Amino acid sequence: MIDNNHTGPKHHGHWIGGAEVETGGERIVSTRPGTQDVVCTIAAGNEAIVDRAVEDARTAWPQWRDRSPAERGRILADVAVALRESIDLLAGYEAAETGKPSAHTPREVQAAISYFDFYAGLVHLPSGELFDLGASVHSYVRREPYGVVAIITPWNAPLGQATRGVAPALAAGNTVVIKPSEFTSASTLEMARIMVEAGLPAGVCNVVTGTGQDAGRPLVSHELVRKVAFTGSLRIGREIGRTAGQRIIPATLELGGKSPNLVFADADIDAAVAGVVKAFTTNAGQHCAGGTRLLVDADIHDEFVARLVAATAAITPGVHYGSQTTEAQFAKVRRYIQTAEDEGARLVCGGGSTTEGWYVEPTIFTDVTVGMKIAQEEVFGPVLAVLRFGDEAEALRIANGTEYGLAAGVWTKDLSRAHRIAAQLEAGQVYVNEWNASRMEGPFGGYKNSGIGREKGVEALHHYTQTKFVTVTI
Ligand code: NAD
Repeated sequence: MIDNNHTGPKHHGHWIGGAEVETGGERIVSTRPGTQDVVCTIAAGNEAIVDRAVEDARTAWPQWRDRSPAERGRILADVAVALRESIDLLAGYEAAETGKPSAHTPREVQAAISYFDFYAGLVHLPSGELFDLGASVHSYVRREPYGVVAIITPWNAPLGQATRGVAPALAAGNTVVIKPSEFTSASTLEMARIMVEAGLPAGVCNVVTGTGQDAGRPLVSHELVRKVAFTGSLRIGREIGRTAGQRIIPATLELGGKSPNLVFADADIDAAVAGVVKAFTTNAGQHCAGGTRLLVDADIHDEFVARLVAATAAITPGVHYGSQTTEAQFAKVRRYIQTAEDEGARLVCGGGSTTEGWYVEPTIFTDVTVGMKIAQEEVFGPVLAVLRFGDEAEALRIANGTEYGLAAGVWTKDLSRAHRIAAQLEAGQVYVNEWNASRMEGPFGGYKNSGIGREKGVEALHHYTQTKFVTVTI
């Protein structure tokens, strides 16, 4: 929704060069999901403001790059302290704009801030390599930043997805321009302001708000942007990948998923039931690594489904998870539920939704076959497709039988089987006897159409640098 009256609640301009920038143009009204109460307004950015932000980031870059890693690390550690002091503000915006229960967002913001602590520490790692090419030659590899990095984020975990890119990018000596989702920009804008107050030099972290078309697209195309880190849908990921390819710049693409949970007959059934419920209902299913396909051993299928349905009945929308964040997303989830019924899947739990609040009941379909849309396409809602398997080979065939490969879960007490299956699953992360065990210490990313490149861990730090091989004849 565009508001040209410029009245009402707090307005956020762009954050460029260490200050709020107001261009006086159109504003986008950010509303609370499901109620449409106005949360704030943000600026509707365009090519001109993107250009200004990228120019500022480029101007700030040499000085930031040339600081010692220890100095950059100290500033990032100070940023973490300052962000923690503002947790109420940040968590409040995250709840208001995403529709998550307000009891959940302080925890998520804490996790988001931790990336600054983590990468502040990692700057002290030795980063280069030495090669022995004989006594008369001195050869080594330097890891150097790219320059200006564009970070484009979606709406399902706004701050976490921003910080997991910003922290390693800055630690490595790049400067950034972030384009958050037009639905959830406020916490990212506040973060950028707090970073400068904590001592981050002006121009090192900039935020341009607006739609993907008007602000995101010119950012990816800007000639001074030397790397893109995108989190979002496969459709837009493809477009960004094409642009990056034409421009010969690297792109980290973190895209969608249709992640399977494989439950074998020898699993700890209580733990598996709890894990499967968590996997498909967390954040109302608006979770890229959500476990939305349950593959269950035919021997325990009926008993497992009965227990799963009973456990799912205790999950209450509005309490355990919040709204669908956008009206389009709410409509999309409802369409998928209808399509699953039309295709012949059996609804055994949920299926309902409330227009007031955009809540979708946790929904389970059994008798799903591999060709159904519900077994192949990302719904991004609390909807679980249950399929049965006869043996390990069939389980793997079904698990790997989608275009995606973000995450996968294995539930078994047989450790040999767990490792055997983990090695054969086409997924960037495999959880054994738990779900969503991703930690910032390890790499995160997708196989197949779930993406390329990795966020988190030391690997992300490397993705924000390029290597230079220096050879000196002595
Ligand atoms: P989206 O692709 O519609 O938008 C993501 C971001 O890209 C937004 O900021 C949007 O404004 C911007 N954008 C849109 N068009 C653009 C263009 N042409 N050029 C540049 N930027 C553009 O995704 P969404 O609906 O906001 O988020 C949901 C999707 O994100 C789901 O598919 C989900 O799986 C995925 N996701 C992936 C991960 C991961 O780590 N793999 C994490 C969270 C979400």
